Amino acid sequence: MNASSTYREELHTPIAHQAQVVVCGGGTAGFVAALAAARAGARTLLLERNSFVGGTMINGAGPLHSFFNLFKAVPGTSKRQLVRGLPQEIIDRLAASGFCRGHLEMDKGGDYDSVITIIDWEGFKDTAFTMLEEAGVDLLLNVQVAGVMKEGDRVTGVIIEGKSGRQAIQAQVVVDATGDGDVAALAGADYVKKHGTSSVGFPFGMARVDMRRLASYLQEQGLVTQLVRGPKDLPGGDDVIRLGFDLTRDPRFSAFMAQSGMWGPLGFSYHSDHFTFINTANKRQVDATDTRALSQALVELRHQVMALSRLLIQHIPGFEQAYVCWTPNNLGVRYTRAITCEKDLSLEEIVGGARFPDEVFLYGFHDCAPRIQIRDAGCYGFPYRALLPKKVEGLLVAGRLLTSDWDAHMSTRNTVSCMAQGEAAGTAAALCAASGTSPRALDPQVLRARLRAQGVYLGE
Ligand SMILES: Cc1cc2nc3c(=O)[nH]c(=O)nc-3n(C[C@H](O)[C@H](O)[C@H](O)COP(=O)(O)OP(=O)(O)OC[C@H]3O[C@@H](n4cnc5c(N)ncnc54)[C@H](O)[C@@H]3O)c2cc1C
Repeated sequence: MNASSTYREELHTPIAHQAQVVVCGGGTAGFVAALAAARAGARTLLLERNSFVGGTMINGAGPLHSFFNLFKAVPGTSKRQLVRGLPQEIIDRLAASGFCRGHLEMDKGGDYDSVITIIDWEGFKDTAFTMLEEAGVDLLLNVQVAGVMKEGDRVTGVIIEGKSGRQAIQAQVVVDATGDGDVAALAGADYVKKHGTSSVGFPFGMARVDMRRLASYLQEQGLVTQLVRGPKDLPGGDDVIRLGFDLTRDPRFSAFMAQSGMWGPLGFSYHSDHFTFINTANKRQVDATDTRALSQALVELRHQVMALSRLLIQHIPGFEQAYVCWTPNNLGVRYTRAITCEKDLSLEEIVGGARFPDEVFLYGFHDCAPRIQIRDAGCYGFPYRALLPKKVEGLLVAGRLLTSDWDAHMSTRNTVSCMAQGEAAGTAAALCAASGTSPRALDPQVLRARLRAQGVYLGE
C-alpha cells in the first residue's frame, strides 16, 4: 500500500454527549471561552487533548503579553490597563493562591512590553480546574476532536477520539479554540497555511540556576536585553523575575546559535533557582498540522535543548550546578492555519489604533515592539467579526488561528489577546445558544453590553 492509498471504513459513532456550547481546545483562549459560556448560562462542554487546560500559555509562553499599553515606549503617556474582565479575574485568583506576582513593570526593555505578568504553571493547572468546576463546565480531557457533524453549512457537533473510542457530541454552537483551526478546517471553512512565515519552539526549564550570579555576570558583559525584578518566594532568594540576554554575541555560542536558529535566550524565573527559557530553541517552517513534520521537529529541538544546556553549564556563571528539569508536553506552535473570517485585522489597523463598532475588547501590545508598536502607546479594537469564520454556520473561532497577515498576527496571537478573544467567543456562543441565534446573526451590541457587564473594558 503506498502513501496515497486509502482504507474505507464504515463508522457508526455513538452520540455520547449533548451540550449547548462545545468548546474545542482548552488552551489559552478555549479555557476562558468555556468559563465565559458557562457563566453566561450555557450548558458547556470543554474538550482538550492534554491532561490539563491552559495550552501554550503554560507550556512555554511567558510572560503574558499584555494587559497594558506600551506606556514606557512613549514618554508622557499614561499607564492603562486595557484587558480586564475574566482574564484579570483569573490573574486575581492565581495571585490570591500565590501563583502570580501581579503585573510587574519592566526595569529594562519597557519599550518592548511595559508591564509583564508571570504565572506559576502548575498552580494555574489546579486553579483552572477549580474555576471550571465552580462554573459548572463539563470537561473531557485526553480527547482529540477528529471530525465534525454538519447539516448543510451548519456545524451541529463534533466527533472525538479518546480512551472511550470514537464518540459524537451534539452542540448548538461550537467554538474552535484548537490553535490550529482543526474544527473550522474539518467543517470546510477556508484558511491559509502560514507555517512558512514562522517557527515552532521548544521551551525548557533549568533548575539549580544561581540567578543572582547569572544576572550580574550578564550585566558585567553588557549582554542583558530585558530585566524585571520583583518579589520571590523564598526569603533571601534572588529577585530576578524576567531576564533576556544575547548569547549570539558571545563567540563560544554564536556558531551554535546561528546554526541551530536559536534566539536570545529570553526567559523568566518564577521560583528562586529556576529559569525557564521561552524563546530559545526554534525551527523554521515546520507544518505543525503534519504528523511527521511535528515528530521530526520534536526530536531535533530536544537535541538542541540538551546541547545548549551543556554549553550554558560549561561557560556561563550561574549555571554550574544547573540541569534541565522541564520540557513542554507539546511543540510550541506559533502559526499554522489562519481561518478566513468575516474580518481580517491588518497591521495598518493595529498600529493605527483602529476602532470598530463591533469591538469586543481593546488591545495594546505588538510582539515586534519597539520596532512595530501601536501609535502613541494606544490601543486598537478587536472586532466581533474577526471571530466569525466565513461560509460555516454555528461556529466561532478564537486564538492564534485567526489573522492571516504575519505582522498583524504578531499582535493578535499573544496570550492576553487570546484570553480576551476567548471571553468574547464564549459569551457570544452562550447568547446564541440561549436565543437560538446563529453567531453570524448575533447583534454585536447585545454582546458588547453583556461583556461590559462582565467587566470587559471597551473604552470610556
Ligand atoms: C514558544 C512560544 C513562546 C511564546 N511566548 C509568548 C510569550 O512570552 N507571551 C505571549 O503573550 N505569547 C507568547 N506566545 C504566543 C502564545 O502563547 C500563543 O499564541 C497562545 O497561547 C495561543 O493560544 P490558543 O488558545 O490559540 O492556543 P493554545 O493555547 O495552544 O490552545 C490550543 C489548545 O487546543 C488543544 N487542541 C489542539 N488541537 C486539538 C484537537 N484537535 N482536539 C482537542 N484539543 C486540541 C491543545 O492541546 C491546546 O490546549 C508564545 C508561543 C510560542 C509557541
